[in-house]
Amino acid sequence: MTLNVIPKPNTVEFYGGEVWLSENKVTYKTNEHYPDEYYCIEITDGETIITTKGEKGRYYAHLTLTQIEESGKAPVCKIIDLPAFSYRGFMIDSARHMQTIDEIKAYITAAARFKFNTFHWHLCDDQGWRIESEKYPRLNEIGSWRYGHGFGNPNMSKYGGYYTKEEIKEIIEFCRERYIDVIPEIDMPGHTSAIIASYPELSCRGKQIGVEMQGGIYKNILCAGNEDVFSFCFGILDEVMEIFPGEYIHIGGDEAPKARWCNCQKCQNRIKEEGLKNEEELQGYFANRIISYLEAKGKKALAWNESLNSGMLNNNTIICDWMDRKHKSEEYANNGGKIIVEDFYHYYLDYEYGMTPLKKTYGLNPWLPELDYIGRQNVLGVEAPIWTEYVEDFDRMSYMCFPRLIAVAESGWTLDKYKDYEDFKARVRNQRSFLESLGIKMADESAWDPGLSVKAKVMSDRLKSILDPAMIGATLFPNKDDE
Ligand SMILES: [Zn+2]
Repeated sequence: MTLNVIPKPNTVEFYGGEVWLSENKVTYKTNEHYPDEYYCIEITDGETIITTKGEKGRYYAHLTLTQIEESGKAPVCKIIDLPAFSYRGFMIDSARHMQTIDEIKAYITAAARFKFNTFHWHLCDDQGWRIESEKYPRLNEIGSWRYGHGFGNPNMSKYGGYYTKEEIKEIIEFCRERYIDVIPEIDMPGHTSAIIASYPELSCRGKQIGVEMQGGIYKNILCAGNEDVFSFCFGILDEVMEIFPGEYIHIGGDEAPKARWCNCQKCQNRIKEEGLKNEEELQGYFANRIISYLEAKGKKALAWNESLNSGMLNNNTIICDWMDRKHKSEEYANNGGKIIVEDFYHYYLDYEYGMTPLKKTYGLNPWLPELDYIGRQNVLGVEAPIWTEYVEDFDRMSYMCFPRLIAVAESGWTLDKYKDYEDFKARVRNQRSFLESLGIKMADESAWDPGLSVKAKVMSDRLKSILDPAMIGATLFPNKDDE
């Protein structure tokens, strides 16, 4: 017997019989020794007893009860539940395509139902800067807009905008009410074309470039030899920290080609002065200065796994393990560093179901095989990003994310040994009407686990062209003024 609840509670004892929850008296008890997210629910004939440490556990208990109640009578039972992982995140890319505040709230409402507790908001990239800035107004005047026909917007001459500080605060408050922390991402030193378009003097060459219109990895990155770059980064982070009260800031660190740094006198001088071996170490130096700055303000940094390539990253950094063929993230965790699992092949929700079927997403055990006993303790949790290069509107986003996001929710909450795919699918079917009430159109079941022919086509169309390491260079779109 299973409760019709997602994520599946970790332990349930059934005693036989059923009751209407609405007819039960609800009693709250507290036990200060329990963890914050723990809850115990005893459903008897006449009484529902909820025991938690405080409000957060009580909130999760009610999420569970709501789903039980939606299925009719509740079984007489005792639920003792605690998440497998303390970090359960969802990421939205609002840089490539923006979502409205209401769409973001709908997504958050759905994520909250499945007990996610962290919203990682990707707010700036090569294709747009999305945070209102009073300190650096050109980020909004120039960096928030792109011109032309990129990203399948054939009839668009101008695309963009940004979220005002008030709108962002509204989202943060909306999340706080649902026990969800919000982590902003300020990607650096790469993925910064929108910054450089606004302030060209922050790049190695100082040349004017445009905000980019296509996906890819761009060569123009922030100059690591120029002190003005650090002043800018500290300044914008100060402004970001005024808006986002949380403990964590994501500083990107992914996909930063070193071509410009190799040919920049300032960057080369920095390498010499700091006794660094090469440009990878220069990125380590860059990241560590930013991280030290954040630490001095009482914040903790997250970064993508490429940040480990320097071999010298501040080991308080939380690593987001997305694509790591050399398993440096697992090695980092085995040596005491904290990591979050967001494996590209399982958790990237912008890839077709033909490449990442629901069953595959569900099947990943976040205790990756390369982790040893210590490493497993250092997995903070899971996160599922939706990148939006090819996700132009909310219907597409809904289709790509649901139900795969729900599968990630269950992997973050329910111990792997209790997961069961067929049982999960049965519970997912019941979520459709709730999601539709939010304007979220979940993918039809026929799309969840496509047959081999669909998979083969998707693999050949997309995987080959984008993922094959030999082809990654092809996605490096040269800037118009290159070479
Ligand atoms: Zn430089």
